[in-house]
Amino acid sequence: MSAVLVAEDLQRRYELRRGLFARPALVHALAGVSFEVEAGRTLAVVGESGCGKSTLARVLTMIEPPSGGRLLLDGQDVAAADAARRRALRRAVQIVFQNPYGSLNPRQTVGAALMEPLQVNGEGDAGAREAAAREMLRRVGLRDEHFGRWPHMFSGGQRQRIAIARALMLRPRVLVLDEPVSALDVSVRAQVLNLLADLQAELGVAYVFVSHDLGVVRHMADEVLVMYLGRAVEQGAREALFEAPQHPYTQALLSATPTVDPAARRQRIVLAGEMPSPLAPPSGCAFHTRCPIAEPQCRSERPLLAPVAGRQVACWLRQQGR
Ligand code: SF4
Ligand code: MG
Repeated sequence: MSAVLVAEDLQRRYELRRGLFARPALVHALAGVSFEVEAGRTLAVVGESGCGKSTLARVLTMIEPPSGGRLLLDGQDVAAADAARRRALRRAVQIVFQNPYGSLNPRQTVGAALMEPLQVNGEGDAGAREAAAREMLRRVGLRDEHFGRWPHMFSGGQRQRIAIARALMLRPRVLVLDEPVSALDVSVRAQVLNLLADLQAELGVAYVFVSHDLGVVRHMADEVLVMYLGRAVEQGAREALFEAPQHPYTQALLSATPTVDPAARRQRIVLAGEMPSPLAPPSGCAFHTRCPIAEPQCRSERPLLAPVAGRQVACWLRQQGR
């Protein structure tokens, strides 16, 4: 199967001015990330806050342009498309944000919120838009009488269902899910994750699932990309990555994830210190300031991704089979 979404060395830099006369600092929020996602499949992007995953989400949804690299949708280079084509490509990638309380307009009924994307894009007449919105409401597990109600009348889980319904109204090819369940009560997370899985099976939409929570990622992902300070440190199929993580950072993240299976419990690896500021990333391997097995070479030379145990890993020691 061919990929719906392809990222080739995607980069995003920001100029940060600290003070009126200070020279702007260049922050590499996204320092070159590559991947492919096929229809009906899920790529999970994992990392701590500040790793660049939200920046990646904004670049993928074309809210911000990349500073370098290429983004291809259905084989078409987004940057090379003319204005009309770009609008169509933009519609094909929708996003669901973390906070279901902030993402819905409190002065808009659920029905109006669902019909709005169709209206803005001049799709259908009023009757067709209403029918499509009612149909989508049913697909996300809400009832017909919810159509005329206001966001404040719903729980967090129901609001997130509404946000998902709204994001799907234009029948996107790709849905970017930016921490879609981390603001929800633990008791409703599984329901929303199951809904997402069902919708994907029905609609064949590709997901880019951004999360810091490896328990959730294990449940959702086909492929996993682990990010640290704007770069991928490990990338590959979910099973292999969860069974035998290779990069010391992935190993540390996984060791901190609670598991119900005592046999699968790993020795907890506690990372020293905080994630360094993206304003002043460490030299060499950016992880060396926290890596429990760092060697002198790690401080001066940056490892690139290379094949290790059937996936891509950016670590000198692992690449040398240690
Ligand atoms: Fe640790 Fe060195 Fe590997 Fe980086 S390259 S993860 S510092 S061992
Ligand atoms: Mg974030």
